[in-house]
Order: sequence, then structure tokens, then C-alpha cells
Amino acid sequence: MENIPELFGSMVFNETVMKERLPKDAWKSLQKTLKENTPLEPGTANAVAHAMKEWAVENGATHFTHWFQPMTGITAEKHDSFIQPAGDGKVIMRFSGKELIKGEPDASSFPNGGLRATFEARGYTAWDPTSYAFLKDGSLCIPTAFCSYNGEALDKKTPLLRSMEILNKEALRVVKLFGTEANRVNCTVGAEQEYFLIDEKVYNERPDLKFCGRTLFGSKPPKGQELDDHYFGAIKPRVSAYMKELDSELWKLGILSKTKHNEVAPSQHEMAPIFTTTNLATDQNQIVMETMKKVARRNGLVCLLHEKPYAGLNGSGKHNNWSISTDTGVNLLEPGDSPSENAQFLLILAAVIKAVDKHQDLLRMSVASAGNDHRLGANEAPPAIISMFVGSDLGEILDSIVDGTTYSKKAKELMTIGVDVLPSFAKDTTDRNRTSSFAFTGNKFEFRSLGSSQSLASPNIMLNTAVAETMAEFADILEKAGTGESFTKALNDLVKTTLKEHMKIVFNGNGYDDSWIGEAEKRGLLNLRRTTDALPCLVDSKNIAFFEKFGVYSKAELESRYEILMENYSKELHIEALTSLEMIKRDILPAVTDFLSDTAMAVENVKSVSKSACKSQLETIETVSALSDTLYEKTEKFDSIMLKANSISDVIEQACYYADTVITAMVDIRSVVDELETIVGSDYWPYPSYGEMLFSV
Ligand code: ADP
Ligand code: MG
Repeated sequence: MENIPELFGSMVFNETVMKERLPKDAWKSLQKTLKENTPLEPGTANAVAHAMKEWAVENGATHFTHWFQPMTGITAEKHDSFIQPAGDGKVIMRFSGKELIKGEPDASSFPNGGLRATFEARGYTAWDPTSYAFLKDGSLCIPTAFCSYNGEALDKKTPLLRSMEILNKEALRVVKLFGTEANRVNCTVGAEQEYFLIDEKVYNERPDLKFCGRTLFGSKPPKGQELDDHYFGAIKPRVSAYMKELDSELWKLGILSKTKHNEVAPSQHEMAPIFTTTNLATDQNQIVMETMKKVARRNGLVCLLHEKPYAGLNGSGKHNNWSISTDTGVNLLEPGDSPSENAQFLLILAAVIKAVDKHQDLLRMSVASAGNDHRLGANEAPPAIISMFVGSDLGEILDSIVDGTTYSKKAKELMTIGVDVLPSFAKDTTDRNRTSSFAFTGNKFEFRSLGSSQSLASPNIMLNTAVAETMAEFADILEKAGTGESFTKALNDLVKTTLKEHMKIVFNGNGYDDSWIGEAEKRGLLNLRRTTDALPCLVDSKNIAFFEKFGVYSKAELESRYEILMENYSKELHIEALTSLEMIKRDILPAVTDFLSDTAMAVENVKSVSKSACKSQLETIETVSALSDTLYEKTEKFDSIMLKANSISDVIEQACYYADTVITAMVDIRSVVDELETIVGSDYWPYPSYGEMLFSV
């Protein structure tokens, strides 16, 4: 048994290591940079770089890399060794402050949406000292932000850091009004990560899984998730071994992996870490996804992070548990025990409600992807409509504030509800509603619409900026209100008018119910069903003004992101379409022909020795032959659809064509293939079945 406390963080250049290894003045200076956001002194950078290198080399590292998150959605790294010629034919290991702080990777091959002409291919990576450096495969990985020559963000980290800073600033103004000692407001995230495992051998026989991460064909297995026997079920030995190794790897990297369990679908599982600051949580979630895949391979498994690997079964999501707290340790979403604590809580709650209602479009957009389109609204994940769940007790309190009536459940305390006299309520009454996209779960909100493969950055950028905006508005009003009774009155009015206007986003019912769609429409909530419906809001003039006001994104950055995301969407579907066509032409149609020919021969053979009419064989031949013809026709049609798709040069128009036409063709052709699979003999079928894939581990 490993010694976990010793193992934990052993691959991380964390505060303990820094304190141990840095000269006192460098340590102090770095602390100042971290706490007060002051620029790093060159002398400090050199000292940190030296200490980092010594530590890394002692732990077996030979290289360093600036580790960043370009718009590909995954992380990027370019490794340089520490070696430097020593002049005598030998080398020494060196790492300078300059190399630590800034890198200049050739950035021309990363998506930039027109932000950087290739002749200005230089991109800069700059150390983010708020996220610890760590060791991976013999390289010292230094978390960095990635910008263009002109300082525009080319990555996901830069705007995330900006959004955290602005939320800190505006939320601090609000809590200061309640007399806090705090100097900082941090946002925190704990991300529950779902995934599927499949045996590597079975995986290798499926081109669709290899190229697209999801199955493009496959008829329904006799057993899926209908028995509900997998969720929280006993973990099979092979999976358990995988989970143990995963935990150990994550712990070494300082990731607080806490919970593991089976999920709803066969061979679907989940890992949840203990929450941390949003920036770290986002970096760490990238490492989690990478480690999940790596450890799987070491165990003869493949980890699927696609949002919908198997049709007809639950897909995988990522729950973004979000809260804000002060540096004095107060969770601002924790309902308090006293009326005044509750007043602050209610104000912050109202701020979040307003933010989510006002920026539904951006929140929806932030989780949009071709993969996630299969989940949202498919009765397994929250719908594409963004709504909030607050539970019945809190809901009643909010309603009574709006209506100016009494909160009935606390009959003893009959009183007109004002925020200054809010009764306390039990927080576990915020029961579980799995169907809401944005649920209050006692002392945090859980944004449940994220896809499993997605970076945490974008949803949190939207959320932080939206809440910062409301906080700024609230602070403007309350700062003017003075103190004592006039403050209380302003506060009560503010909470009441805010809730009145924005309670329409709160829905405590069943989000999977079809009637919710009509109800949401009546309430005027947005239902942006597909990625192509959701992405355009990124370049709405109101949203450009919103982001520019808070300095989170510039207009140019938003336009480039819009283009990159639309283009990525088309590319993903393009790969799926080509894979689908190739599988049909090269494997499925030939397999069907073999089956037909063997069956026909069998009929002849049987007839030559008996009087049998060979009814079943002949009927099978008729059916399969007809389906095969249909498949062939549809393939030809699909080919011409793809020719058209390729010929569209406008990025946006092309994405819409994929959404409207290519997807329909793909779904249509799949139905024929899936039907064939149920008739053609399994020995002939070129791919493992759903049953074989789902129960392969
Ligand atoms: P669930 O009921 O959804 O399984 P848990 O209580 O297990 O919820 O927590 C889910 C996630 O929420 C965990 O990652 C946990 O660390 C995180 N979490 C708890 N408190 C906070 C907080 N204040 N801020 C952000 N995340 C939090
Ligand atoms: Mg959860």
C-alpha cells in the first residue's frame, strides 16, 4: 500500500516545495506576486527557475515545456531539454527566469480564427504562477497563457483568468458592504467527469471509435441500461484496477481525486475531485482527461470521453460545481444562520439568478459542440434550454419575497419576508433534481450541461463575467444607498425587483418532460437546440459590448472564436461523414455481398440434395438484397451531399449545411446499416456489436 499523503503532490512544484527550496526573499516576492497580482521581479523569476529545475532534475526530468490550452480544446506542449553546452564537450542543465516566464512557440498551426497572419506566426506563452508547475513523462510542465504578437488571447486560460479577476473585483465591492474583512473573492469549481471504458482489442476493430470517438453504426443490444443495474453497482476487478491506478497518478499530480463510481450506462464511470480555484480546476481537468486515456492504454483499455459514444444509451457529461468564496473562507453561496448572513446570501443568489437569466445564450453557447448536441435535450441530460433549480423551500422563499407574502412553512415566525428578516431554512431541502441545467445544491451551483470532453474554461468564463456584471450593478446601487435603514431598504428593494424580473429562469419541475419546452417558450426562455443555433450569440453586438466592457474578450477575439468554433464543428462532422462512407463502402457493403452470395450458394446446395423450398433463406436474401440496394442508393446520395459540403467556402454557411443536411443524411443511412446488422449473420458483420463493446471490460 502506498503512503498516500507522501505520494500526493509528489510530482508538483507546489507551495511546500517552493517554500523549502526558494531563498527567503524570492519566496516572499513570489507570494506578493500571487497575492497582489504584481509583476514578477526578474531576480525572483531566476531564483524560481533555478529551484524548479533542480527539483525537476532530481525527480528525473530532462526537459521543460510551456503547457498551454490553445483553441483545439486540448493542451499543447513543446519540449526543450535543460542541456546547455559547457564548452568542454560536456553539458550542464540550465533553466533561466526568462525561459520560465516567456516562451515563443511557432503558433501558426494552432487555430486562431484570423487573429494572426502566418507571417506573424509568433505566439507568446507566459507563465501563470497561480497554477503549479508539475512533472509529466520526464518533462517539467509550466502552465502558461498563450497570446498573439499583439496580445490577443489565443487560448482558453487568458480569458478565464481575466473573468476571475473581474469577478473578484466586483464581488468584493458587494461583500465589503456587509463589513467583511476579506481582500479577495475566489471562484471555485469541482468538476465531475464521466467516461466510458472499452477493451482495446474491441476498440481497434471499430474505425468509427478510432476516428470519431463515437460509434456511427450499431444496432441496439438486447441489454442496455434498462435494468438500472450499473449505476453505483459493484465495480468489476478490471475497472477497479484501472481506477486505482488513475487515482494514484492523479494524486501524484496533486489532483484531489475523491469519488469514483459506476454510471448509468454499461461500462460508464465517473470521477469527481474535491473542488479548487477555477483556474487550477480547469488545468487539472485537462490533466485528468489526459491521464484517464493514458492509464487506460496501460491497462489494455481505451477511455472514451466523447459525449455520445453509443446511441440509445446515456452519453457522458461533466458537472461544473461552482461557487464563490472569500479569502477569509466564507462560501458566499452558503445560506447563513442569522438574518444578516442570509441577507447577503439572498443578494448573491439574486445576482446569480439575474446573471444566468440575462446570459442564457452565452451559457448555452459555452457548452455547444457537435458531440454535446447528441446529449442536450435527449432525455438523459438537461435540455438545451438553460433554467435554474433552487429546490422547493428556497423557491418558496423567493416567491414570497416577490409576492410580499409570508413564508408559510415557518408558521411560528409569521412575518413579512424581507431579506433583513429571512428565516433560516435547512439546506438539504434543496433536493436533487437531475434534470435541471443549473441547479442549486445547498452551497454551490451545479452547471450540468457541459459535455464530457469539454474544457471547463468557456462555461466558467461566461458564468464569472455574467455574475461580475450583476455584482457591479448591485454594488453601484448599494454603495450609493448609505448605511443603516436606508441600506436595508435599498437591499430589500434590489432583491425584490431583481427576483421579480428574473424568476422566470427558475424552474423546479422535470426538465426532461416535453411540456417544459412549451412552458419555457411561454416564459420567453431561449431554446437553442443545436450548436449552429447557439454559437452566433458570441458575436451579438450586445455580447460584444458586454465582454469588452469587462475586458474579458475583445471584439476581434470573439469574432475569431466564433469562426474557430464553427469551423471545428464542420471539421468534426466532416470526419464523421467520411468515416461513415468509408465503413459502408469498404466493409459493410462487401460483407453484405459475401453473406448474400454464401446464402444463395447454400440454397443451391440444399436444393440439390432435398426438396426443401429454402423459404427462410430466400426471404432473407430478398430482404437483405433490397436493403443493400437502398444502402447503395443512399451512399451515392450521401457522396453528392459531401461534394456540396466541401464546395462551400463560407465557414458559417458550411457549418449550417452540416447541421441541416449532412447530419440528416448520416442518421438516415445509419438506420439502414443498423437494420442490416440485425439480419446479416454475425460472422459476416465486420465490426463488434454494441453488446460486444459495452460488455467488453
Ligand atoms: P453530488 O451530489 O453532485 O455528487 P458532491 O457533494 O459529491 O455532489 O460534490 C460534487 C462536486 O462539487 C465535488 O467535486 C465537490 O468538491 C464540489 N464542490 C463542493 N463544494 C464546492 C464549492 N464550494 N465550490 C465548488 N465546488 C464544490
Ligand atoms: Mg453532481
